[in-house]
Amino acid sequence: MADVLFTNARIFDGSGDLPYAGDVLVQGNRIARVTRTGHGARSLPVQGATVVDAAGAFLMPGMVEAHTHFSWNDQPSLDAIQRMPPEEHILWCAQVAERYLDMGWTSCVGAAAAKPRLDVVIRNAINDGTIVGPRYLAASQEITVPGGLGDTTQPHLPQPEFAFGAIVSGCEEMRRCVRMFAKYGVDSLKINLSGESITGMPGEMSQFTEAEIATCVEEAKAWGKRVAAHARSCWSIKQCVKLGIEVIYHASFTDEEALDLLEAHKSQHFIAPGLAWLINTSHHASAWGLTPEVTRKMGYHRELEAAIESMKAMRRRGIRILPGGDYGFAWTPHGTNAKDLEYFVKYVGMSPMEALLSATAWGAPMMRMGDVLGQVREGCLADLLLVDGDPLADISVLQDKARILAVMKDGAFHRAPPVRSARTMSRWAA
Ligand SMILES: [Zn+2]
Repeated sequence: MADVLFTNARIFDGSGDLPYAGDVLVQGNRIARVTRTGHGARSLPVQGATVVDAAGAFLMPGMVEAHTHFSWNDQPSLDAIQRMPPEEHILWCAQVAERYLDMGWTSCVGAAAAKPRLDVVIRNAINDGTIVGPRYLAASQEITVPGGLGDTTQPHLPQPEFAFGAIVSGCEEMRRCVRMFAKYGVDSLKINLSGESITGMPGEMSQFTEAEIATCVEEAKAWGKRVAAHARSCWSIKQCVKLGIEVIYHASFTDEEALDLLEAHKSQHFIAPGLAWLINTSHHASAWGLTPEVTRKMGYHRELEAAIESMKAMRRRGIRILPGGDYGFAWTPHGTNAKDLEYFVKYVGMSPMEALLSATAWGAPMMRMGDVLGQVREGCLADLLLVDGDPLADISVLQDKARILAVMKDGAFHRAPPVRSARTMSRWAA
């Protein structure tokens, strides 16, 4: 792998500092040197390095998606996702994994797979170079209860092969299920603690007993696995803190007690609200029969309002809120994930700087790579994006593939910059 020297970049380094002009040298898969223009040592030509004149373009860390479902297939229902045959399904996942990298997501955290081994197989195939995709943490299926979110079986067809999730009832079935996924090699267990209105059980309802949840966490930790929860209800959020579930997805309905608990344990948890799901289900799913009238009756409009208030409160309390969440439905197609950053600015009150940090610096510990990922710093892994435009002025530029001029993962270009247009690529400098 040739060394790469980016010159004349506007570097957003993920430290929280404002961007500065400078050069970045990548050697092997690491960032070897970061030089500020006008601060002492001018960078020297490096023997044999490919020089990329960024011409003032925005150089930033690759983004981290905190709630990814490669196996959701851009269809309008859980049934339509679940019924894809395994052979087509794994090819779909491989294709989607590459799409994430295309859009600048150099790391993704799996948040459940639609069949038991899809995530594990994709992670392994990315890691051994069989397919192209971001760094990936593999999840289990969603663990659920009979009749709960993810139980898509019919009364006359109770076979597990017809279920979207892994259905358990009671502590020993839970224990067996966690052990099975540990055997398959997942990085995390996904447990559905609350309902989901579209499937019939309201998001404010909770579906497991505390004893079952505790068994899941105990067994997962015994295997060194992380637990992530679908937790919309207030009770389920409190259970996550009480029982040590690190990753909390949605967290829509909070009260003072829940917020106090989260704040007191904020270094131990990550929140990914998945606002795109709530916004688009409420307002942009009419083509699939989910008109605003229908989704209002389901409770999604009220939940969206509650979720926005909860996220505003969490932001004020310094609780980490990360982008990602349930892309892969017909009205939240894969690849549009950077909309989350726009939603954070528009609805949650984050500054563009905070939104960018949530996708980079805060994503690194979410990947359990806090020391080496999410920043443009000497010694870090070279996951970098070169962006035409200024996401700090307009966060939506990250939604446009054409504006993401280059994507580098682990020191290698997934997409090299268009060299011929290098002199004109920068709009902010004009
Ligand atoms: Zn999800």
